[in-house]
Amino acid sequence: MGHGETTSVRHFVAVHSAKGGVGKSTVTANLAIALHQRGLRVAIIDADVHGPSMGMMLGDQQRPEPGPNENVVYPRERCGLRFISMANLVTEQTPLIWRGAMVHNMIQQFLNGVLWGECDVLFIDMPPGTGDAQLSLSQSIPLSGAVVVSTPQELSLVDTVRGMNAFRQLNVPILGVIENMAGFVCDDCGESAALFGEAGGEILAEEFELPWLGRVPIDAMICEDGDAGTPTMAVHADSKAAAAFGHIADALVQRLETSNNALAFHFEWKEMGWNDRVSEPAESEAGSLDVQSVWQVSQDELGIKWADGSMSTYGCRELRLACPCAVCIDEWTGAKKINESKIDMAMTIKEVSSVGRYALAITFSDGHSTGIYHYERLRKLARAVGEGRSK
Ligand code: ADP
Repeated sequence: MGHGETTSVRHFVAVHSAKGGVGKSTVTANLAIALHQRGLRVAIIDADVHGPSMGMMLGDQQRPEPGPNENVVYPRERCGLRFISMANLVTEQTPLIWRGAMVHNMIQQFLNGVLWGECDVLFIDMPPGTGDAQLSLSQSIPLSGAVVVSTPQELSLVDTVRGMNAFRQLNVPILGVIENMAGFVCDDCGESAALFGEAGGEILAEEFELPWLGRVPIDAMICEDGDAGTPTMAVHADSKAAAAFGHIADALVQRLETSNNALAFHFEWKEMGWNDRVSEPAESEAGSLDVQSVWQVSQDELGIKWADGSMSTYGCRELRLACPCAVCIDEWTGAKKINESKIDMAMTIKEVSSVGRYALAITFSDGHSTGIYHYERLRKLARAVGEGRSK
């Protein structure tokens, strides 16, 4: 796969775990290689600043090569994957607190400052835990969904459940749960001895109505291969462990295909007279947890019909002023950085597209397009600014 000078990613997939040390990075690296072996173009952003282990796991902690201009670099490449990790950029001496401060901007930097070329799947190996990182990620990247990695012991624990709920609240689809370090597989007899109880993950997945992606056995080889910088999937492709990653990769591909087809929509703004109005959507263009359809109400108004039947309309300029992207809002203080007087009074929209099943991406007539408008936020905005206009 040659390097493109642009980035085009079909699926952004967040890999989440409630705690560190459950094998999130190990699973990400092996799963990525399994997808690559199936012919996909795969990349990884290691956003786990507290334990940026991807460089070590893939045996490459070199600095990235500079790109054609000073603002961009090329990703590193190993095992057919493209990747970038904090480990390629900082030394072990970089203080933890500074790393924490970087996490918000880092993902944007890794996304915009790295020439990824064309990717079918770009994994984001997230910092463990729940809350802020997920929120900031889902606001800055159009995620196809999240994969949750857990050990059998952690699976039913409150943190894991909370982590999944955080994604759910943001309407980021959970593509599936992977149970890592599951019952030890005996090499001699091939029997799986349940160390922590059989089928715990599947039961949990059922209970929470989550898709189940599969189980990776606990296996010293996985650990040794990871430590050596040569993931099992690359060097022991015939092993039982590799077969497990292979099954998970197949399940994930299937999930991505179905989750993508179900709800995608996209429309271009039409030229309308300033007095023309379409007060109701013609037909359902999108259906989802929260939004049933989206339509152009007038030359400068966007309409949303919610799943509960209520409708809201938004002025294009109001939406532009409410842009949540890092250029318009200070990520730390939440203060607006946008200069209202510079925003065209006759602002309209060029294009609207769905982002997963949780948000809209809008390209405005001034070319601005970096904000991701969560349905949840659009609901609040309708109450805050559009009360008079929404019905
Ligand atoms: P995380 O990214 O969740 O912090 P890592 O991927 O760094 O976790 O894994 C933590 C440790 O567990 C590493 O030493 C790794 O090699 C080991 N490990 C991960 N998965 C397995 C497994 N299935 N069997 C044995 N060891 C594993």
